[in-house]
Amino acid sequence: SVRVRFAPSPTGPLHIGGARSALFNWLFARRHGGTYIVRIEDTDLERSSRESEKNILDSLHWLGLDWDEGIDVGGPHGPYRQTERLDMYRHYAEVLLQKGLAYRCYCSEEELAAEREELLAKGELPRYLGRCRALTEEDCRRHEAAGRKPVIRFRVPAGDAILIRDLVRGDVTFERSEIGDFIIIKSDGIPTYNFAVVVDDHTMLISHVIRAEEHLSNTPRQVLLYDAMGWDKPEFAHVSLILGKDRSKMSKRHGATAIEQYRAKGYLPETLVNFLALLGWSPGGEEEVFPLNELKQQFSLDRVAKSPAVFDLEKLNWLNGHYIRQAPLDQLTDMAVPYLEKAGYLSVPLSPEKYQWVKMVVASLQKHLSYMEEITGQARIYFEDDFEIEGQDAQDIMAGEQVPGVLRCLAKKVSVSGEIKENDAKELLKEVGRDLGLKGKQIFMPVRVALTGSTQGPDLNQIMAILGGEGIIQRLSRWT
Ligand code: GLU
Repeated sequence: SVRVRFAPSPTGPLHIGGARSALFNWLFARRHGGTYIVRIEDTDLERSSRESEKNILDSLHWLGLDWDEGIDVGGPHGPYRQTERLDMYRHYAEVLLQKGLAYRCYCSEEELAAEREELLAKGELPRYLGRCRALTEEDCRRHEAAGRKPVIRFRVPAGDAILIRDLVRGDVTFERSEIGDFIIIKSDGIPTYNFAVVVDDHTMLISHVIRAEEHLSNTPRQVLLYDAMGWDKPEFAHVSLILGKDRSKMSKRHGATAIEQYRAKGYLPETLVNFLALLGWSPGGEEEVFPLNELKQQFSLDRVAKSPAVFDLEKLNWLNGHYIRQAPLDQLTDMAVPYLEKAGYLSVPLSPEKYQWVKMVVASLQKHLSYMEEITGQARIYFEDDFEIEGQDAQDIMAGEQVPGVLRCLAKKVSVSGEIKENDAKELLKEVGRDLGLKGKQIFMPVRVALTGSTQGPDLNQIMAILGGEGIIQRLSRWT
């Protein structure tokens, strides 16, 4: 049965790349009725933190990628945090020691650095040449008496090149001679990534390892460990790098890389999963809109591209605009309130009437937003009465001969009408046109500029309904 895992190291927030790995594993599990597991790889004690762990898990929940087994939810193969599995790693290291497939190494930092230098000077790949391979019990005792603490190294057996049949990359071979005996347990008793990952993937019965391409070069070491333990290997699928638009590896330079940053700007989780899925996977065809439930039915590893994916912020914004237009107004309003509050436009809690009014504001802008934070700028027209007239176009319009008459006429009609709904606004503007023998733009443009300072923006009827009778009269009074 399909069992896959996402195994983040909690050394920072969840990034785009990690989120994509999580999503691909999740989709693969859902597509095949399998189990999706989240495991925390916190063996880098210095860089790992519970804060990062929480951030990662929060982001996963926000994206809607819930797991069946793992950290927080538990399961039969726990614990799911590597620092809580140290006994297990030590046990398996001991097994390898007993079989002579691993050995204790007492080389000091200085000795290792010198070996490295030497190899580099000769133009060779730095690797451990095996100085401690043949230590006797007696040698070990002597080193320990001298206060040296050993690491445990895996003894790389002689043999042919190592072949990896990757489900995305095809057959990849690695020269065995380039792999020196590598550390599996550090001198503080903590396992290295390559060892812990093999023990965990085996004991958690992982069937497919789907992860980022940067781990491909670790895979031959992991394969050697599976073979030494006599364990079946999982299938491997290494997903390509994510590049920025300039084709260099995606980094902070290219914009926000953490999922929480997109969340904070008011992107929708639906957008991010759709967008992340298309970073490396494509169903073939032009369609770009794939909600999670469709992805779940269509995702397959053989449509994951070998070539790098390019992160395109404009596409993300376009896609988010699409999902914003589909989202329920209540949800968008709840998202909008904190931005409007932060801008000083609202104070919470809102009265029910005020909430309804904010909903109108959001409805008028829904078509115009790429992400919710933009509402701060776009909603300005409803909250600031003291605005400048933007640009020459708008000024030219206001210089028109008939403009004062139009605005005076409208002001009069509004003051009679009292409360203004969208339809009333439409009607009033028509009446002004009829009364003055003007039409279309000759009315709308000056009214729009008089009310907002700009020739562009949301629907004028909506603007008028939102400003309300008093608001309109007050803004028109500048001109009449
Ligand atoms: N902890 C590793 C990382 O965050 C996971 C690698 C793997 O999936 O094997 O990169």
